[in-house]
This record gives sequence, structure tokens and C-alpha cells, in this order.
Amino acid sequence: MPNDTHNPNLRSWVESANDPATDFPIQNLPLCSFLKEHDGHAHAHYGTAIGDQILDLTLLWEAEAFPEIADEGAPGPAQDLLEELDAAFEYPHWMGIIDRPELVALLRREAQRYLLDGPAGGQQGRRLRQRALQPIATTNFLPPVSFLNYTDFYASIHHATTVGAMFRPDNPLLPNYKHVPIGYHGRASSVVVSGTTIRRPAGQQSPPDDNPSAGPGFGPCKMLDYELEVGCVIGRGNSLGEPIAISKAAEHIVGLVLVNDWSARDIQRWEYQPLGPFLAKNFATSVSPFVVTTEALDPFRCDGWSRGPGDPEPLDYLRDEHDRSRGGFDIVLEAFLLSKEMAAKGAEPVRLSRGGLKGMYWSFAQMIAHHTSNGCNLQEGDLLASGTVSGQAEDSRGCLLELTWAGIDPSTGKPRPRRPIELPTGEKRTFLADGDTVILRGSCEREGFRRIGFGECRGTISG
Ligand code: MN
Repeated sequence: MPNDTHNPNLRSWVESANDPATDFPIQNLPLCSFLKEHDGHAHAHYGTAIGDQILDLTLLWEAEAFPEIADEGAPGPAQDLLEELDAAFEYPHWMGIIDRPELVALLRREAQRYLLDGPAGGQQGRRLRQRALQPIATTNFLPPVSFLNYTDFYASIHHATTVGAMFRPDNPLLPNYKHVPIGYHGRASSVVVSGTTIRRPAGQQSPPDDNPSAGPGFGPCKMLDYELEVGCVIGRGNSLGEPIAISKAAEHIVGLVLVNDWSARDIQRWEYQPLGPFLAKNFATSVSPFVVTTEALDPFRCDGWSRGPGDPEPLDYLRDEHDRSRGGFDIVLEAFLLSKEMAAKGAEPVRLSRGGLKGMYWSFAQMIAHHTSNGCNLQEGDLLASGTVSGQAEDSRGCLLELTWAGIDPSTGKPRPRRPIELPTGEKRTFLADGDTVILRGSCEREGFRRIGFGECRGTISG
């Protein structure tokens, strides 16, 4: 339930945080990691976003600026907690903190207290405030946590149906879809933080449709796509052999990030049967630099999953009434494209789609319960992504594969030519070109609360 950290009247001395349009008001305070140069070396620091700035939590920790924790005389957490946090601040990527929800909540509260509007406490306080801030725009981000494992699901029934129709017009949704949260194991080594350049992959591609005897070819991907997704970051894991019950699954989520699961459609089409995605997916996955905590997202909870008339009820291990009514997140999601030519002309990115996470067929709790139902162990820092988030409306489709799909021509039974997207420069796209930048954004709004957002997940294609 929302608490006093969500109070919409709280204001910060960081003026940009009070702008109603910011993703990062004082009610959000997501987790991030970044590189900071000092003493001739680059160090990994923890931070949080506030307005258009990053607050350096490592610097504040070392300056003992969090009195509730650092002042041994004050009532509050005991000395052993202080020592644990001291140790955790030595490691990059929040390891040793995110597996303890109470520590994440404590640091969020301390950051909020530090940022609350009020006097700086003399010259020393003013100087510390200056030293602890740096612009987001010039910050060198690291992945927010160290992603050791990455699993990608397929939780949007609209995405599954539209894509299924491309391959099986008469039977788009396979019979298991409404019973099993479908997923595959991705590759964590190629998960990169927003801003990292994405190199166009090469791979094996199917023979041309009109000349099947030509045989497959190998070369640069010709159908490079993005996938607009949301990922949940696992805090506390589970022991091998011990499933996580669906009623406990939410406690294992630290927060959410934006995910772009870059996809090579021509490689995918040739390789995906019978074992599923492989090289079409594992060359790169981008994540936003900020983990928006489940506590910050609490006011924006919504129903976790809905079933249409005639749909089967989930099996018992995937069914929980609290998850059904509150296990979802009402997040508006948008994808934008900026071509090299548009950027050179100073044009704004053009919006490709606007949809939302609300209305997914499976919740993150169901994905966690299913993932661990066989005893598989999740670990601190695991990334579980939703799969492409697409809605029913055509302009809410979360990838180019769907957005440029023109359907099957009933007279020939074959797909119609793809319908390209026209850019303000007159350029056309059915898939991504070299120099294109894809930008994902997400935000939450609800009457009576401050709007919060996820920042950007951005990547530019290089040839
Ligand atoms: Mn995906």
C-alpha cells in the first residue's frame, strides 16, 4: 500500500525534480550504478536519479550523510547493519543490498530525507550537495545490477497472436499459450546498458521464398528489429530445488527496468524451429540505467492478469487472488525512432508506438512461480523480461515485425508486402537501418500521486 514516501506534496531542493514532467521526482528514487573518476581511477558508484541529476549515494555514504543509519547514537538499525552496508558499498552493482528488501527501502528513505526541500546546513552542507550531484546527461552509466542470468518471456497475448498469425494464419495461438507462461533462456553476457552502440549482427538466413533451392546464405542481418519490453530484477533468489510460491513471488522483485530485446528476424525465421530463439536474440539486449523499485511503483499497481470469456483458469501453482487483483503495473510504454538523417537535421525522434504493460496475459509473479516450479534457482540480479509488450490497438504494437505487418492477402493466401513507416525526412523503414536510434520510455500516472518514469533505454545501430 502507498506510504508517506509517495506523498505528492514532497518537494526537493533539486529544482528540476519538482517539474511535473520529470521522470524522477523525489517520490521515485530508482537505483543506478555509474563510473566516477577520482584519485586517477574510475570507480563504480551507486546513485539515484533526481530530476535531471544523479545523486551519488556512495559519496554520501562515505560522508556519513545518512544519519538514521550512520549515527550510532540514533535509534534505528543496529551496528551490524551498518557494517553490512559498509561492506555492500564496496561492491559494484548493488549486490548484497538488493537481496534484502528492507535495505533497499532504508536507502530510498535516506535518499529522500537528504533530498527534501530545506536548508543545506551551512557551507559544508552546501558544498556536499554540490559534490553529490552530476547531470544525468553526462553520466557514464553501468548496468544497474550485474545481470548473471536473463530469461525472456512471451506474456503479451496480443504479440503472441499477431506474430503467430504471420506463420500460422489459421491457428495463430498455440494450444499451450493460455496454460504455460512461455519463455526461453537468453544470454546475460550481452545485456548492455542504455547508450551502448548495437552492432548489426551477421548470421545464417533462409533461402529466398521464391527460390527455395538456392539454399541458405550468410551475411549481415537484413531484418533487424527492436522489442519493447519491461524486465523485473530479482533481489532475493531461491535455493536449488525449492520453488517460489506464487503468493511469495512479489517479495523477490526489487524493481523494474525497460528492456530492448534486439531481434534479427531473418536469422530468427530460419533458426527458431525446433528449439526456439538462439543467435537471432543473443547478440545484444539493452536495459535502462535505472531500476524503479517496487516500492516506488506501489501506487501504480493494477490487476495482474485477466482472462477472456472461455479462457481456462491458470493451474493452482499459477493462481493467487492478490496477484490477480494487484500483481500488475500500470505503465505507459512508448517506442521512438531517430534516424541518422533526422538527427543531422535536428528533428525530434518520431513515436512508433504507445501502449502499456497493463493487460498482460501473465504477471511477473506467475513468471517467477513458473520459472522456479521445477526447482530452478533464481539468483540475485537475475533479469526476467516480459516479452514484447503489444496491445490490441495497431499503434500499441511493440516491434517493427508487428508494426509493419500488413496481414495475409485472402486472394493469394500469402502475406501482403510490409507497410513501411515513413519518417519526417521522407525515409522509409520496414526494419532498422544503420545509424537508427531506438528510444524506449515508460511512465506511470495516477490521480493523487506524482508521475514517475523510467528514463530512457536507448541504442544506436552501427553497420
Ligand atoms: Mn523478446
